[in-house]
Amino acid sequence: MASADRTLVVRNGSVVEGTGTGPRPDRALVLRDGRIDWVGPAAEIPEISAPHRVVDADGGTILPGFVDAHVHMTMSGEGMNPADLINQPPHYGYFTAIPRLKATLDAGVTSVRDLAGLDQAVVRAVDEGIVPGPRITTAYRALGPTGGHGDFRTCCGFDYGTVLGPDGAVSVNTDGPAEALRATREVMRKGAKVIKVMASGGVWSPQDTPWHDGLNTEEMAVIVREAASHDVPVAAHAQSARSIRNALTAGVTSVEHGYEIDERGVELMLDRGAYLVPTLSTATTPPDPATSADYAVAKKLKLQEHLSENITAAIRAGVRVALGTDSGICRHGRNLRELALLVEHGMTPMGALLAGTRDAAALLGLADEIGTLEPGKRADVVVCAGDPLTDITLPGDPDNITAVIKDGRVHKGTAAPRADTFR
Ligand SMILES: [Zn+2]
Repeated sequence: MASADRTLVVRNGSVVEGTGTGPRPDRALVLRDGRIDWVGPAAEIPEISAPHRVVDADGGTILPGFVDAHVHMTMSGEGMNPADLINQPPHYGYFTAIPRLKATLDAGVTSVRDLAGLDQAVVRAVDEGIVPGPRITTAYRALGPTGGHGDFRTCCGFDYGTVLGPDGAVSVNTDGPAEALRATREVMRKGAKVIKVMASGGVWSPQDTPWHDGLNTEEMAVIVREAASHDVPVAAHAQSARSIRNALTAGVTSVEHGYEIDERGVELMLDRGAYLVPTLSTATTPPDPATSADYAVAKKLKLQEHLSENITAAIRAGVRVALGTDSGICRHGRNLRELALLVEHGMTPMGALLAGTRDAAALLGLADEIGTLEPGKRADVVVCAGDPLTDITLPGDPDNITAVIKDGRVHKGTAAPRADTFR
């Protein structure tokens, strides 16, 4: 349904291709049938005889559509009050996700990885253009231990995780290798293209802390092996140093958060070529006592004591980084503020842009499809006012994202019709 048969020209800007070079001034792109057809100097643009439309970058920077490798579209980003959540109607999460998906796309993010909460209904609704939003890779539900992060049952049995997943739960309580194997197969049956595992406890879970282990190494190794047999990567929520080491020993593809990563964790990560998704947008936001349970505030303050130095040390050591915000825990629609935070934590502006384009695309297993502006790739293109390489805060303000094109369709900005020949 969302096929884009029109030809679109993007011009009058510098191009950052997402390959580590640039910006190249005075460039243009030709997009055809939802794919990138041509990228080059504006003066050499091939003649286009068919009617087409033109997006004027107005002297700004033309970039690949960004990827946010860690979001939760069913979560508000404005605190999680158990009393509110247990009173929400079933399936409410579907509808709350709709404006968040649009805000994310408007912010310049054309692909996301939803690490628990969304099912195939939402993926398909976006793919078919029923709901505007970024392309979605979903974990469906997270796998975690009974009583651990992801088990949202309170001590008296209320389960406020019910409304956080459109299909009635946000996680699968998984205990022992046999259940780990079954749960992995079950979420893949439901369309998971990434498996989310809880290697540690967390801030929001009522019964554990980030310093408790989640699934053990043996359980995670079973999950990694089964997922790998389907070419599906495993993303580990891991906050304590020990849980990070456990997850990497089990062979996960990415460590999410990684706030207390230590030297051994960095070594393992470099050894195995695993990714760090530091979710600094959430990590660096102070906890809000007005919208958070007391236990969540206390845990977060303790985590924040050393996380900036730990993440900076890992980045300086050269670990692979993919951009992810944990939007849903922090607010939606300001995803690219993460770029400036990555730079504050030791990345170069170009390194941060690559973390949000080429490298995050590779983590999603979509390196051949998205992440760079190269002929043959999907026509996911963003225009940012000014030059983000000289001011990396620019893309973080959605007002500076003047055009968003996904699969060759203009979602934000104007495309002026041109019935005549291009030149
Ligand atoms: Zn998360």
